[in-house]
Amino acid sequence: MASGKHFKYIVLGGGVSGGYAAREFAKQGVQPGELAIISKEAVAPYERPALSKAYLFPQSPARLPGFHVCVGSGGERLLPEWYSEKGIELILSTEIVKADLPSKTLTSAAGATFTYEILLIATGSSVIKLSDFGTQGADSNNILYLREIDDADNLYAAIQAKKGGKAVVVGGGYIGLELSAVLKMNDLDVTMVFPEPWCMPRLFTAEIAAFYESYYTNKGVKILKGTIAVGFDADANGDVTAVKLKDGSVLEADIVVVGVGGRPLTTLFKGQVAEEKGGIKTDAFFETSVPGVYAVGDVATFPMKIYNDERRVEHVDHSRKSAEQAVKAIKGKEAGSAVEEYDYLPYFYSRSFDLSWQFYGDNVGDAILFGDADPGSAKPKFGSYWVKDGKCVGAFLEGGSPDENAAIAKLARAQLPAASPDELKAAGLQFASKI
Ligand code: FAD
Repeated sequence: MASGKHFKYIVLGGGVSGGYAAREFAKQGVQPGELAIISKEAVAPYERPALSKAYLFPQSPARLPGFHVCVGSGGERLLPEWYSEKGIELILSTEIVKADLPSKTLTSAAGATFTYEILLIATGSSVIKLSDFGTQGADSNNILYLREIDDADNLYAAIQAKKGGKAVVVGGGYIGLELSAVLKMNDLDVTMVFPEPWCMPRLFTAEIAAFYESYYTNKGVKILKGTIAVGFDADANGDVTAVKLKDGSVLEADIVVVGVGGRPLTTLFKGQVAEEKGGIKTDAFFETSVPGVYAVGDVATFPMKIYNDERRVEHVDHSRKSAEQAVKAIKGKEAGSAVEEYDYLPYFYSRSFDLSWQFYGDNVGDAILFGDADPGSAKPKFGSYWVKDGKCVGAFLEGGSPDENAAIAKLARAQLPAASPDELKAAGLQFASKI
């Protein structure tokens, strides 16, 4: 059995939050040897959203070290050397299989133990697999998922091996949409399948979705809605050959990519910390019910001050900001200085083909579409406001400039009284821009 190591601070998880936490620790000041980041992945923290976008491009695909954190937010790129220069120990390819919070001990799959004074849980999410539901044939080769860089490498290899072949994308969320686009860009024959009446139903209204679905159809992506994959056929080598749908139809497939959601990785801590809404419950400083144990990123259910409720957010902007907030709180506590409560405005974005959208705030109440949502336009630009109790609480914009995106963010933050639906529709982006 490997011997134990002790650190003042351990960040468990070397993903987006792990990387941004390291940068904040360095900013606030850590002594060499005080901080370790333990990660199952073999590489230093990187900007995960790249995996479903530039990593899979047919030309000049993005590769590490190009997209290590913190380039995604315009910050310094933290190469592996950065960690050693700062005296931060990056413990890679190391899966923690046991966490004992009372004794402040983590145990790896290889039997190594790590003790700490302060723990930051940043384990993110794992993908939901069709084999979890016992879907027939779901273990066939070339049925792929995307969460970590190894998954992206497998998908990239499959795309190269099946050039000109058929791909079926199961799931109509942002992963399904982004992957359908890159698979199409790689000249595969792509069909998307999802059970809902339109894509991205958790955010998009029917009108917003209609734009993206038409745009994708014009690009040659086939979209099958209202049905699910119930089984897969494979050849003698175990390679997938077809997807069987609930409506009885069968789609030929050389590659299947499944994007049906994720699950926060909280199992190591079950029964040891308070949980809420499927995540680890934290306060506004990301401290859990166990003093000295913090949880950030996808796993944290935190007070959403602006809406006076508690939420878990699976988006990159929050993973960065929550990590920074937790480290500020840890260091603030040590110094006896006050740190402001986390006051997060939900923000997420996606990019595919030539499209790029941003969303800020809350998508509740009545949605009012504005602008040019014609998928045939040379440069479509449209958006939506969400109005609840007479206030504009959310805003979405496709094709916005940085200034315009900043304007809709400001509007969603201010929750200003909304004009009538007709006036909002007529004013369009002007309504946000004049704030
Ligand atoms: P992660 O970044 O997932 O990091 C968790 C890390 O912990 C991983 O390295 C994992 O291996 C490690 N880990 C987990 N368990 C253990 C263990 N037991 N032992 C050791 N290590 C462990 N969000 C957006 O807003 N916009 C986007 O366009 C977008 N695109 C995305 C594309 C893809 C393909 C994916 C998967 C996500 C995307 N997201 C996007 C979501 C965003 O990337 C996540 O919300 C963010 O990465 C969460 O950060 P995190 O640090 O909590 O988790």
